Amino acid sequence: MVKIVVVGSYIVDLMSRTPHMPKPGETVLGGPFQMGPGGKGGNQAVAAARQGAQVTMVTKVGNDLFGEDAIRNFKQESIQTTYITKDEKEATGAALIAVDQHSENMIVVSLGACGKLTKEDVQQASEAFREADMILVQLETSIEAIQATIELANELTKPVVLNPAPYQKVDAATLSKVTFITPNETEASLLTGISVHDEKTAQAAAIKLYNAGISNVIITLGKKGCYVYDGNNQGRLIEGFAIDAVDSTGAGDAFNGGFSTFIASGMSIDEAVRKANAVAALSVTKVGTSVAMPTNEEVETFLE
Ligand code: ATP
Repeated sequence: MVKIVVVGSYIVDLMSRTPHMPKPGETVLGGPFQMGPGGKGGNQAVAAARQGAQVTMVTKVGNDLFGEDAIRNFKQESIQTTYITKDEKEATGAALIAVDQHSENMIVVSLGACGKLTKEDVQQASEAFREADMILVQLETSIEAIQATIELANELTKPVVLNPAPYQKVDAATLSKVTFITPNETEASLLTGISVHDEKTAQAAAIKLYNAGISNVIITLGKKGCYVYDGNNQGRLIEGFAIDAVDSTGAGDAFNGGFSTFIASGMSIDEAVRKANAVAALSVTKVGTSVAMPTNEEVETFLE
């Protein structure tokens, strides 16, 4: 069983259906309400755990009901919660989501406690880092915690997957210490200044990131799949799987959780990306984020 430490966000998704988007000052009587675990860190942890990884989550929640719920949810997924700390001042992260009848959405995210993750919070998990095969981190928490994660992993010579989402600036020295980077088209464009929209522009951006010191670049291209560049071979497109898309939110999270598990288990980069494309495609066939992550059994059946 591969061991993965995920450092990142936990956010509870609070979603209401609405007949139309409220204007400023307007109150709309909405349709059904749904609540579920979310946040890129939490989603990726669940995606990895469902692919068979032994996952330790490092995040921060509030001393409130949503925080209790987060820990209960992680435990249900057999995710180790020892290093989930509680912030006495901040509330658990929450996303207020309104979805109208055309499936358009409006979202307000309050990172709350998970945005206050500190260097010390990361360092107290050093024992889990030491035992891990892979460290997985996103940009949906404090820069301080992200840098501490990459530095600690480097000190312990552990490989790191950085999913640079949502984009925020990270200094070049920190970026160069990452083993695998997995931006989508928007993030790859922001990281490189090259507008990424097809295979050719993905290749240019991937080479630029490679030359900046990141030895494995994987740019996710939605249903087209991923562009991979690792310097050893020509860069290449690894095609996605054709499925009936229902809800693409969380596709990137499914991909990252799956990819980290497969690469940590010793697969080649191409095989790990292909299988992670399958994990992500299956997540798109269901509504929701964490709850839509497929199990390893579902992925194996899909690939048969
Ligand atoms: P999101 O923000 O929706 O979670 P993302 O923008 O981070 O996703 P994408 O590049 O859109 O990331 O998707 C990640 C991966 O998910 C893709 O590389 C692909 O494997 C898979 N994927 C996404 N959309 C589809 C789709 N419609 N059909 C099949 N696979 C998909």
